[in-house]
Amino acid sequence: MIKILRKKLFRLKFLFFLSLIFFLICEILFSFSQSVGFSFVVFIFLVFFSGLILLYLKYRAPFRKIKLELEELQEKINSLTSEIEAKKDYLKYLPQSSQQLNFFKELIEELLKFQEVSEIYSFLGQKIKDVFKKLNVFLVYMVEEGELKLTASYKTSPNLSIKSKKGDILDYWVLKYNQPLLIEDISADFRFDLEKVSSLKERKINSLILSPLFLNRKVTGVLRAESKDKRGFNFEDLRVFSVISDLASVSIDRANMFKRIQELAIKDGMTGLFLRGYFLDRLKEEMRRSLAAQNPLGLILVDIDFFKRLNDKLGHIVGDLVLKKLSDILKEVIGDCGNVISRFGGEEFIAFLVASSKEKTKEVAEILRKRVEDTPVVFRRKRIKFTISLGVATFPEDAKFLEDLIKKADEALYKAKREGRNRVCIA
Ligand code: GH3
Ligand code: MG
Ligand code: MG
Repeated sequence: MIKILRKKLFRLKFLFFLSLIFFLICEILFSFSQSVGFSFVVFIFLVFFSGLILLYLKYRAPFRKIKLELEELQEKINSLTSEIEAKKDYLKYLPQSSQQLNFFKELIEELLKFQEVSEIYSFLGQKIKDVFKKLNVFLVYMVEEGELKLTASYKTSPNLSIKSKKGDILDYWVLKYNQPLLIEDISADFRFDLEKVSSLKERKINSLILSPLFLNRKVTGVLRAESKDKRGFNFEDLRVFSVISDLASVSIDRANMFKRIQELAIKDGMTGLFLRGYFLDRLKEEMRRSLAAQNPLGLILVDIDFFKRLNDKLGHIVGDLVLKKLSDILKEVIGDCGNVISRFGGEEFIAFLVASSKEKTKEVAEILRKRVEDTPVVFRRKRIKFTISLGVATFPEDAKFLEDLIKKADEALYKAKREGRNRVCIA
C-alpha cells in the first residue's frame, strides 16, 4: 500500500518537472526563431503546460493527504516494530519461565512432604545454594518476642563467620516494612548506615537479598541470602527469592500446625505437660531401658495440699494459676535429661527421673517441695502460698511392674498427707 502511494506521488512530481524543463527549452528556442510554425509548436506546449498546471492544482490537496497518510503509516510501522522487538524478548525468556515454573512446582511438592520445621530449613538451605550460584551465606531468622533470632544458617565455606544470633538493620528493615530487599552493591547503597550493618564486621558481604516470612500478613521471620560478589544478585533473583520465601512461609506454618495437632493429642493444654496415656507409655519404655542398662529409675508423685480449700476460698482462676506455677517449677527442676513429667489427674502430677537412685530421687523431691513452698503465686498483688506432698518410689527396687510401682509411690504420697502434708515420703 505504502509502496503504491509512494510510486503515484513520484510519478506526478516527475511529470510536472519534466514539462517545466520542456517549457523552458521551448521558450529559449522561441526567442531565437520567430517563425509561425515554431510559434504553433510553442502554443501547443503552452497548452500542454497549462494542462499540467491544472493537473497539479487538482492533485495538490490529495498529494498532501497522501503525504500525511504516509507519515501516519510510518509511525504505525515504527510502533509495530518496537512491539515485535518486545515480543522477541518475551520469547527469549519463555524457556526460562517454563523452567522456573517447573522449579516452583517441584519445590512445592517437596516442601509439602515435611512435617518438621527444621527439615524445611535445611531443605531450603540446600535448594537456595543450588539456585543462586553466587550465594555464600543463607540465614533464617524467626521473630521471638518481637526480636529476630537466628534459627538456621548455611554457608558455602567453613571459613565464613556467623557469630551474631540476632538480625542486623537490614533484617529489621524487612521486618518493619514487610517487603523484600535487594542490595546489589552495599558500598554504593546509601539507604543504610554501613556502620550499623553488624554482619559486615564478621564477614565479607557485597550483595544481598532478603525476604519476609509471614503468617496472616504478619512477619514471622526473615530469609537472607548473601554474596561476597558485587551484583551477586539481581531483580530476577529477588523475584525468585521472594516466591521461595512465600512458599516457605506456608510450609513452615503447615509444619507448626502439624506439630500443634500432635502435641494436643499428648499434651495438657493448660500446663503443657504430657497427658497420662503418653506418660504411661514412656514409663513402660523407660523401665525396659533402665533394666537393660541396669540403671535405677525414680518415680515422684505430687499432689497439691488443700487444693479444694484454695479453690473454694480464692476461686478457680487462682487454682489454675497455682497449677501452672507448679508445672513451671516441675519443668525447671526436672524437665531435662530425658525425664518426663505428666499432669496425671486434676491436681496430681507424676514424673520419672532417668538413672536416679532412691536417695537422689528423694533429694530432687525435697528440692521441689522447698521451691514450691518458697514460690507464692501473685494474684491482684496478693501473694498466695501453697504446698505440695510427694511420694517417691524407685524401679526396680520397690516394684518390678509399672502398676505396682505407681501404687508404691501413691502409698508414699498418702503417707505424706497423713503425716501432715508439705513433705516427701518414700515407699
Ligand atoms: P489434699 O491436701 O488431701 O490433697 O486435699 P485437696 O483439697 O487438694 O484434695 P481433693 O482431691 O479433695 O481436691 C482436689 C481439687 O482439685 C478438687 C478440684 O476442684 C480441684 N481441681 C482439679 N482440677 C482442677 C483444675 O483444672 N483447676 C482448678 N482450679 N481446680 C482443679
Ligand atoms: Mg488429689
Ligand atoms: Mg490435693
